[in-house]
Amino acid sequence: MGKNINIVGAGLVGSLLSIYLAKRGHKVNIYERRSDMRKANISAGKSINLALSDRGWRGLEGVGIADNIKKIAIPMYGRFIHNKNGTTAFFPYGKKDQAIYSVSRADINMKLMDLAEQQAGVKIHFNERCTNIDRANLSAHFEHNETKKTTSSTSNLLFGADGAFAASRLNMQLSSDRFEYNQHYIEAGYKELIIPPGKNGEFLLEKNALHIWPRGSFMMIALPNPDGNFTCTLFLPFEGEKSFANLKTKEAVKKFFDEEFPSAVPLMPTLLEDFMHNPVSSLVTVKCFPWTFDNRIALIGDAAHAIVPFYGQGMNCGFEDCVVLDELITKHNENWETILNEYQTLRKPDADAIADLAVGNFIEMRDKTADPVFLLQKKIEARFSEKHPDKWIPLYPMVTFSPQIRYSKALQEGDKQQSIMDKIMAMPDIDKKWDSDEVEKLILSAIS
Ligand SMILES: Cc1cc2nc3c(=O)[nH]c(=O)nc-3n(C[C@H](O)[C@H](O)[C@H](O)COP(=O)(O)OP(=O)(O)OC[C@H]3O[C@@H](n4cnc5c(N)ncnc54)[C@H](O)[C@@H]3O)c2cc1C
Repeated sequence: MGKNINIVGAGLVGSLLSIYLAKRGHKVNIYERRSDMRKANISAGKSINLALSDRGWRGLEGVGIADNIKKIAIPMYGRFIHNKNGTTAFFPYGKKDQAIYSVSRADINMKLMDLAEQQAGVKIHFNERCTNIDRANLSAHFEHNETKKTTSSTSNLLFGADGAFAASRLNMQLSSDRFEYNQHYIEAGYKELIIPPGKNGEFLLEKNALHIWPRGSFMMIALPNPDGNFTCTLFLPFEGEKSFANLKTKEAVKKFFDEEFPSAVPLMPTLLEDFMHNPVSSLVTVKCFPWTFDNRIALIGDAAHAIVPFYGQGMNCGFEDCVVLDELITKHNENWETILNEYQTLRKPDADAIADLAVGNFIEMRDKTADPVFLLQKKIEARFSEKHPDKWIPLYPMVTFSPQIRYSKALQEGDKQQSIMDKIMAMPDIDKKWDSDEVEKLILSAIS
């Protein structure tokens, strides 16, 4: 028998989850705080771009909608590095044809909402902000954004998919004993900027790459949009010498960009206006536990595990939550007590692992992608992996292109690999003999 299921939040994960549940015959209602973004005028290129990779694709394939999303996604086959001295370099993410995909967050969200309503029969209630969840009778309370009218809705199951600052999570925290909660803001914030298309609508940078301007303690990245724009994101400390705090005037911004990103400045005609106008946002990691309550309430996506964006995995991880939950529904034949318990037991170590990996990757992206020693290590790993694919998958492809490997396992393997590579990189003249039999044999003996 289909259940009545309420989901709080029609973001990326709530919308996908609703399709999974509705396709199983459940009656699904989503309550979303915002107005319907499909009716507002949100143009692509003005919103965050996300990198969608194999774990995310698996989530979309599970309900047969990957092809719909492919139409709005651009493959990026590697990192395109822009050094301060004007030199550039391209580093593939994985093997030939392996790519991560740039999608506009607004576009994929709108598409998922369309598919939820049209294909799966989900009902989305907009402008409804969840204010409280009454656990005793599983009734969620909402306030309409415009009319301020309050309503409530009871259901058999409720999912909190309301993002990093979830009201559902706060509600569970306040109404539970021994709820574990930890949030950590990194010292950097981010601001979105834009590189528009050329006169004839052409891309002004290589289209099929993720562009990085690594500058040590900060960086700028750019991801392509189908209309020829690149959405740029500047990640910069809030405070300190090179920081948002010191970029308060157009003159200061111009000087900073001329010094740090001289190759990008000519491509950014609205840089100063965009910089002064667009907000600075913060980046948070949230870890909490439990994720399920009373055998009928569960947190999912960022509501359960918000992570910083540097591994490009927040959405992918949330989509993987949906896949795991769906597998458990099949395995336990709709026994929700068992499903929810196993869901949180399985997913919590993986969410913690990708949260830690994501923080570590900030340092890699902003700093190490311009470091010759790091790049040599990556070259050695890639060579070894090509010769012994059954023995070594480098960490990035393990996380990004290997959904069969859990995040927690990838983190463990990555630590092991790093300790082997520390020894290899300490060898005298490693830059001359990096592709020698000696190095290959040493790695082989270290992993056996
Ligand atoms: C700068 C940046 C770059 C990123 N890059 C990537 C990337 O490259 N790859 C990747 O995989 N991930 C990336 N992410 C992470 C990704 O955006 C999130 O992991 C993803 O959006 C999580 O989806 P969600 O549905 O859990 O939460 P959200 O997308 O935040 O959706 C939550 C929804 O709940 C609604 N809501 C909130 N409160 C209430 C309430 N009280 N009542 C009702 N509704 C409510 C919100 O309006 C929203 O629609 C990035 C994030 C940032 C900030």
